Amino acid sequence: MNIPLRISPGLRFIKQNVPEVEILEYPTWQQYLDRLKDGWDIVGFSFYQNEIDTIHPMIEAAREEGVGEVWAGNYGAMDYGIPELVDRVVYGPGEDHLAQLFGYRVNADAVEHPAAMVHLSVLPGIRHTTFGLLHTERGCPYRCTFCSTPTFEPERSTVNIASIERLLRHYRKIGVRHLVLTDELFGSHPDYAEELSRLFARYNFLWWAQTRVELAVKYLDLWYERGMRAAPIGMETMNPVALARLNKQQKVEMIREVAGMIRSKPGMLRIAYFMIGHEDMGYEETLEDAYRWKEFDFDVYGATVITPYPRTPFWEEIDDRYGIFDREYSHYDQTHLVWRHPLITPDQMRELRSRVKNLLNNPVRVIQRGIKRYILEEARHSGHSGTGYLWRSVVTGPIASLRISDRKPFYFPKQK
Ligand code: SF4
Repeated sequence: MNIPLRISPGLRFIKQNVPEVEILEYPTWQQYLDRLKDGWDIVGFSFYQNEIDTIHPMIEAAREEGVGEVWAGNYGAMDYGIPELVDRVVYGPGEDHLAQLFGYRVNADAVEHPAAMVHLSVLPGIRHTTFGLLHTERGCPYRCTFCSTPTFEPERSTVNIASIERLLRHYRKIGVRHLVLTDELFGSHPDYAEELSRLFARYNFLWWAQTRVELAVKYLDLWYERGMRAAPIGMETMNPVALARLNKQQKVEMIREVAGMIRSKPGMLRIAYFMIGHEDMGYEETLEDAYRWKEFDFDVYGATVITPYPRTPFWEEIDDRYGIFDREYSHYDQTHLVWRHPLITPDQMRELRSRVKNLLNNPVRVIQRGIKRYILEEARHSGHSGTGYLWRSVVTGPIASLRISDRKPFYFPKQK
């Protein structure tokens, strides 16, 4: 399964809300240099920790070209070395900071949602459908020690719901029938999630949203009836001691309960994320954890290596206790061990990760399961219109998707 992200939803939020700003999404080096020559008061970069090496020469080129100021935003801006490289660091949503440059404000509850899409290919080279992206809630009330969100977005807010309904109408009009919510935690504003899920059902979307186990226990039945077809949950580990260390506030029994709920729902993709490299777990214990996950029979497992990110409690704790030895930015992509684990070496971790991946994810099975859940089970579940669903999934959906350009910019007129 392949879902390449070729646009920047964060930059599109800025352009939708502060149209005076010009954006460039993943430019080539030459495209970037050409645009720099236009002369700019401010050049800002939105990036992640593992992209900092890419940003360095871009900042140098901007300075050489004599731009007024250089700004940094997104999670990568939390790196300790960034403030000395740029003139301003923006944590959290950027819309209001930029609007003030033009003499107005964008309050959190007035932030309008832009259009942003990605294509999905189940079989390599064949576009199966297009997902409309949504990011509806910002911040998180929890405090998992490894997570950057509580520091990056300490103020919680929700995106303007009227703008989301306008976007849903647009997606329907151009033939998009599936949504992916990229929220860290869907459902943490229950009334808002209630209103949104009603909208998704009213416009007849099937949707995916990441959430937490206790929210899934409470709302999964309702959300499923309203079209939810995947609830990727960061389950992290089945080891209660490691869960407690991460302040995940998640009970192992609840993980079992949610896994059972997901399995009982036809058409629902079974996706779980977990982490390896917990400090109390050695090679064999990590493998045992993976075998316990396998029993749940999920369709897709995402296994990441637990990574300290700057300004998180986990960074401080791990650096104090063991030391963070690897400062190569590109290694902060959750596939490398960048700190001195007391029981596993970086080489062992590389091998362990590949063993765990092979144990849990068989690419052929992922495709078979994807087709089974998303096409066959869903067609059966949709009853009388099952044939219609099959026709849409296999014929009209892919044709509509071919007509959609994920890269082409599209913005709504600003709401009054
Ligand atoms: S991991 Fe999820 S629940 Fe925990 S703080 Fe981050 S966003 Fe919130």
